[in-house]
Amino acid sequence: MENHVMNTYSRYDLTFVSGSGVWLKDIKGDEYMDFVSGIAVNCLGHAAPQIVETISKQAAALMHVSNLYWNDRQIELANRLSAASGMDRVFFCNSGTEANETALKIARRYGKDKGGAEKCRIICMKDSFHGRSMGALSVTGQEKYRENFRPLLGEIYDAEFNNLASVESLMDNNVCAVIVEPVQGESGILPADPGFLKGLRDLCDKHDAVLIFDEVQCGMGRSGKLFAYQKTGVTPDICTAAKALGAGFPIGAAMANDRVSEHFVPGDHGSTFGGNPLACACGITVMKELIDNDLLANVNEMSEYLFGRLNGLAEKYDKIKLVRGVGLLVGVMMADGFKTPVINKAIEHKLLLAGAGNEVVRFLPPLNVTKEEIDIAVDRFEAAVKEL
Ligand SMILES: *Cc1c(COP(=O)(O)O)cnc(C)c1O
Repeated sequence: MENHVMNTYSRYDLTFVSGSGVWLKDIKGDEYMDFVSGIAVNCLGHAAPQIVETISKQAAALMHVSNLYWNDRQIELANRLSAASGMDRVFFCNSGTEANETALKIARRYGKDKGGAEKCRIICMKDSFHGRSMGALSVTGQEKYRENFRPLLGEIYDAEFNNLASVESLMDNNVCAVIVEPVQGESGILPADPGFLKGLRDLCDKHDAVLIFDEVQCGMGRSGKLFAYQKTGVTPDICTAAKALGAGFPIGAAMANDRVSEHFVPGDHGSTFGGNPLACACGITVMKELIDNDLLANVNEMSEYLFGRLNGLAEKYDKIKLVRGVGLLVGVMMADGFKTPVINKAIEHKLLLAGAGNEVVRFLPPLNVTKEEIDIAVDRFEAAVKEL
């Protein structure tokens, strides 16, 4: 087939045409169990009836008006996110990257207002992932992504994740922000120690810096709470979300407390599509499912079950080193050299899994996954491990 798509991904040779719940059908008619969920996006599964209905109804009513005007869907989603997160204000955009760009701009603006031009330093973590735009890339602590695109943003410093002393040694009154994922996702599903996050909170308070939590992957229920920080007792100044926020429809959000968001004024930031009624209607439906219909309870119950089954495999097979993560954000660390082979074997067994970092395989089922579905997935994974 003629193909003019730009060569930015190394892809599996699979072409999907339809889906339902945790199942996907490819162009040949083969059915796959999807434990990738579009990289933690399709939180309600494929073709979720609530989302299909939301999109149909909202598209028939109003899709887009721009931010020259108000729309009721945007206000309702902002209010729901604010009530559930404790953040005061929400800026809507279209992706995780844009949400993080927003956070970085709020932080630079805050720094300028509070400490002048010098207060512009941003501390990020090694092995983090915050997106591919020049700003988000600048705070992504992985040289393999950054090296070919310098010069990037200036005044960015890399600290060690889960090592408070390394952050402290970079901290002074010229720091305007610290950005961290409460659970590092892309680099291997590594949760931050609550003590580390608490230490970051104290350092930011001491030096009047903005604490940014990137919850693009671990947020929106995947951890078992709406946001992973709600498990730790530490509250950031800015929290970013995207991926699962629209259950498959593109939307991102940067949420902030009044102390920092009041430094943003009209003219400072914007987005043509951001907060359009269609995207926000999807976000409202996701919030209703997670909170009003207590989908979070299913995340916690299924998390325990999935961890139990995977830990059982870890005891049985040397090729599985350990299982870690939170909620339904689960990483299986394989012995050296077995990550890619096991993902490929799993595809032969019609199970989709995603890699993370050098040796971790990610299990990211939809948040409404059932025990029976987990059993099928884990049995297929075991069959793949056996054949390595
Ligand atoms: C996926 C991801 C991003 C980037 O989100 P996009 O929607 O791809 O722009 C940023 N941060 C984290 C933690 C992510 O997992």
